[in-house]
Amino acid sequence: VPRTYLCGLIGSGITRSLTPLLHEGEGRAQGVGLVYRILDLDERGGPDSLRRLVTSAVELGFDGLNITFPVKQSVIGMLDDLDDTAATLGAVNTVKITDGKLTGYNTDCTGFARNLTAGLGGIDPGSVTQIGAGGAGSAVAHATLHSGAQRFTIIDADAARARSLRDSLRNRFPDRDIDADGLDGIAVALKESDGVINATPMGMAHHPGTAFDTALLRDDMWVADVVYRPVETELLRTARAIGARTVSGDGMTVGQALDAFEIFTGLTADADRVAAHMSAL
Ligand code: NAD
Repeated sequence: VPRTYLCGLIGSGITRSLTPLLHEGEGRAQGVGLVYRILDLDERGGPDSLRRLVTSAVELGFDGLNITFPVKQSVIGMLDDLDDTAATLGAVNTVKITDGKLTGYNTDCTGFARNLTAGLGGIDPGSVTQIGAGGAGSAVAHATLHSGAQRFTIIDADAARARSLRDSLRNRFPDRDIDADGLDGIAVALKESDGVINATPMGMAHHPGTAFDTALLRDDMWVADVVYRPVETELLRTARAIGARTVSGDGMTVGQALDAFEIFTGLTADADRVAAHMSAL
């Protein structure tokens, strides 16, 4: 008898997340039962209730959990094991529960790498500038270097945060050329870059605009965004208009869900089908 998988998402302000629809839709398409519940911390006593929710999920027989803001770091203390990527990043967005044992993964990182590789259609990332050194930025920077970027400049309005990420990336990728700068370094960095990644919230509906002057873009660059609401940010719209190759943020959302689905179920998710489902939502 085919089994039914039970999964959930724990985080704050997640009632409108599309992740449950992606997982349940892919389960249906594969003919397996998969129930995916939203467990919003805001309705359950805030981040302090994380341990209670994780313990309850184990007791109720959940197969896995996705974990999001603001508990991707604090969940680590509740886990039995971490895969290498999650351990390196110090952040977990996916937990597999097997016989009461909890293992943490980071599919933000692997999902972005998947999305970048597909979006670049086989070309090397080359020389890359990334704006934004926060939570998403840390995972995306690691993924981009893991995908083969040779030169990497991390820029953040908070220059100390950019330098701190630079230092940990240099330790992990000692054979690459890695720099950090404040926003005033953007023009010089972009002049020498093959690609640029926005990992700031700029471009979201409530953060309209772009993190830097789009007149600095060129048609021979690739331009990636992590923002996925809207999918067509001002940055990507401008890049497309000048003929630059673009990699949109919904692909990262799809990529992290594909990898999490495979961790939860052991089944291979159909990347094109999940991407089509995401576009239709
Ligand atoms: P965060 O707050 O941890 O980090 C954002 C960083 O950007 C901060 O360091 C901040 O100083 C910097 N920043 C903000 N505005 C800037 C500007 N104008 N110029 C330069 N630097 C600026 O946030 P986060 O968790 O990293 O999330 C960032 C965005 O990533 C979110 O808005 C979300 O849309 C997106 N995200 C997408 C996915 C996905 O699957 N597609 C997953 C996670 C996050």
